Amino acid sequence: MRANRRRDTAPELALRREVHKRGLRYYVDTRPIPELRRTADLLFPRAKVAVFVDGCFWHGCPAHHTHARTNAAYWADKLAKNRARDQNTNERLRAAGWVVLRFWEHVPVSEAADQVQSVVSARRFARDA
Ligand SMILES: [Zn+2]
Repeated sequence: MRANRRRDTAPELALRREVHKRGLRYYVDTRPIPELRRTADLLFPRAKVAVFVDGCFWHGCPAHHTHARTNAAYWADKLAKNRARDQNTNERLRAAGWVVLRFWEHVPVSEAADQVQSVVSARRFARDA
């Protein structure tokens, strides 16, 4: 289940393409922890890095989230739940030894890919050494 998270959004695809171009291989829409019903947009099992691309609207980006004029209470509640869920996902994954990288969908793809590349490379090096 992927509540409120659409699959394969344009920013997700762009990041996957860019990371792939840099020679990194990953799983797509995969659960880092099988019993935890959360899927990462890009998953690097060996390096234990989980990457999420968060939609500015659904996850409440400070730069782009606009408060709905109609059904304001409903949307505020929905946003609060999404953010709490994101927070909980981060905590659960970190507790299990994962590095969690979250990017707003508005972050330039090269910038996000730089971070993914450097974190994944560092973790792999640390594990292989
Ligand atoms: Zn944004």
